[in-house]
Amino acid sequence: MKTKIAVANGDGIGPEIMAAVLRIFEANDVQLEYEFVEMGKSYFDAGHSTGMTAQAKETIETLGLLFKGPMETPKGKGVKSINVTARKVWNTYANQRDFRTLNGVETVFSKAGIPINLTIIRENIEDTYGGIEHLLTYDVAVGRRIITRPGSEQVIRYAFEMARRKGLKKLACGHKANIMKLTDGLFLEVFQEVAKEYPDIEASDIIVDDLCMKLVTRPQTFEAIVLTNLQGDIVSDLCAGLVGGLGFAPSANIGDNISIFEAVHGTAPDIAGKGIANPTALLLSGISMLRFLGFSKNAADIENALLYTLEQGVHTGDFGDKAIPSSNTNAFTDAIIANLGRVPVGGSVYANPDFEAQAIRIQPSKNKLTVTKNIKEEMIGVDIFVESNVQPNELAAIAKNSLTDNFDLVMISNRGTQVWPTGSIYTELVNEYRVRFEKKAGRDISQKELLHIAADFSERVKVCSVEFLMNFDGKIGYTLAQGQ
Ligand code: NAD
Repeated sequence: MKTKIAVANGDGIGPEIMAAVLRIFEANDVQLEYEFVEMGKSYFDAGHSTGMTAQAKETIETLGLLFKGPMETPKGKGVKSINVTARKVWNTYANQRDFRTLNGVETVFSKAGIPINLTIIRENIEDTYGGIEHLLTYDVAVGRRIITRPGSEQVIRYAFEMARRKGLKKLACGHKANIMKLTDGLFLEVFQEVAKEYPDIEASDIIVDDLCMKLVTRPQTFEAIVLTNLQGDIVSDLCAGLVGGLGFAPSANIGDNISIFEAVHGTAPDIAGKGIANPTALLLSGISMLRFLGFSKNAADIENALLYTLEQGVHTGDFGDKAIPSSNTNAFTDAIIANLGRVPVGGSVYANPDFEAQAIRIQPSKNKLTVTKNIKEEMIGVDIFVESNVQPNELAAIAKNSLTDNFDLVMISNRGTQVWPTGSIYTELVNEYRVRFEKKAGRDISQKELLHIAADFSERVKVCSVEFLMNFDGKIGYTLAQGQ
């Protein structure tokens, strides 16, 4: 019995590279059956606001696996990227990208004889990709960065499971917890907690800027790295550069119920329809998908044929030895098919039935709400963000008018830097301040009182937003201002 999956050709070069990959699968007798779904730019244009038909959505949700070509997001107001929406709506919380040196794809590292074989696991749902942004004043924009305990745990657990199945010895957590103490701090804390359950894997953490430097100087020292969404996005493109560029970067978006396999690159509108696109990244994504589905032997056969072909110097126009004439997509695909069964000189890939043989299902979930229970919460005060053009001393005097007996005015900051009660005249100001009110020691306060302060304050200055200050289990749940 064939396994059925959903396939979306995509836009631009999508149909050309998808046809190439499926032709290679067919030549290797891969036992898959494809249900082609209507998804992409033309479906946006036809009035489907999600970029796919209802039938496509149903098919993908039923089959649980989508193999997709790149898709164009129409530029303009209100239209969200179909690629990002698909990942978020279907909760494909882990984005796995495997990067390895490919013979025939020359890079500074391959020339230096330094082999690269590393996997990036990027959290795929949270972080700044919630896209929750506001202009607080005409001059000041802010964005919300959402990092959650269950979201972090899901992806970190996936990373450890993946490392174990691949037989890796090390997993690093990239972060910026020295600056983003609560958001990245939470991600790191969860990493350290989960790591205790995997004593067979050496867990370490590294600050993301140091990580970038080490990745370009000593990439061979890393095996797998797990990161939050935005940092993972940037670091994974850096890694694509280490092994030859986006044309060699596969991507798997893994969820409990639905997974999406795609190339990292886009629709390449400049070469679409010319028949010269490089199908390697989509083929590598297809190979990961075969492993994910348990077609381990097919995956190894096809990967060996691809590696052999690249070793022979066969290449499309976007890479390879310029002294060797480039092949078009069809000729490149034919060469891979002709090389099925050949063994690459640089080392053969073996079928390992246990290796990623099936979906790593961490927490089958259906819109469930996950909360940590029995946490003691204490309300401490409120940060009121206001628009104001006055100097900090003057603003403090205005703010004091809103004080009640239970509270102190403790701090005013501008762009996160304390400017009252102490500060520097050299701190440049913008017209948005944070004014912090905290309860006096020993007082019990209510949220209503805090909102009352904000309401009272709003009669004197324009209030832009309000954020409550909380302690959880005695641990401070907000950051101090720089200089506080
Ligand atoms: P792109 O990746 O499409 O192209 C960047 C450059 O790389 C171009 O010069 C292109 O010709 C080349 N290139 C890309 N893939 C290639 C391949 N397989 N073979 C040979 N050359 C290749 O990036 P872009 O131009 O910024 O984006 C074009 C469109 O793709 C946009 O609408 C964007 O939203 C979309 N996009 C989609 C995805 C996705 O579906 N996951 C990802 C990125 C961009």
